Amino acid sequence: MRSPDSVPTPPRKCTACGVLFSEGQVIHSILVGISGEGWKRSSYCAACWDNGGDSRERVSYWHGVYRGRPERSKMPPEMAAELLRRLSASEKWVGIASLMAWHMVRQKGLRFVERAATEGHQILRFSPVGFDGIIEVPECRSTTDDLRLFRELINELGDEFSL
Ligand SMILES: [Zn+2]
Repeated sequence: MRSPDSVPTPPRKCTACGVLFSEGQVIHSILVGISGEGWKRSSYCAACWDNGGDSRERVSYWHGVYRGRPERSKMPPEMAAELLRRLSASEKWVGIASLMAWHMVRQKGLRFVERAATEGHQILRFSPVGFDGIIEVPECRSTTDDLRLFRELINELGDEFSL
């Protein structure tokens, strides 16, 4: 666990070139899952992103404008839904997907639609609030490791992940 002041949320400078972000500047952010270490968030200025960005396998990508005050910058709902899709599709992270889905339901960014059985296993269907689509999340029992990783993920996404 990081201490609250060790990594500013959102990061204040570009991971690649180190230049400080300024208010209103477009920034690109990714979240990478690092085996045994949890999550690492990196943010890039538009120039560095266009210049190759970051090719690591990511669990989430979003872009927006930099706000010095974190409570004003929100992850768009489409990107939150994409994050959930990526978690659901990955064998590594599927245990976190249902935790994230119910978290998003509590945050009113997602509505529960139904529980269904497909090809012998249970899935949960959710519908994003604000745009069309269905997200299918495999229903599985989350381990204590999943719970820990989920809390670290929410922590790393920070204030931006309030829908
Ligand atoms: Zn840069």
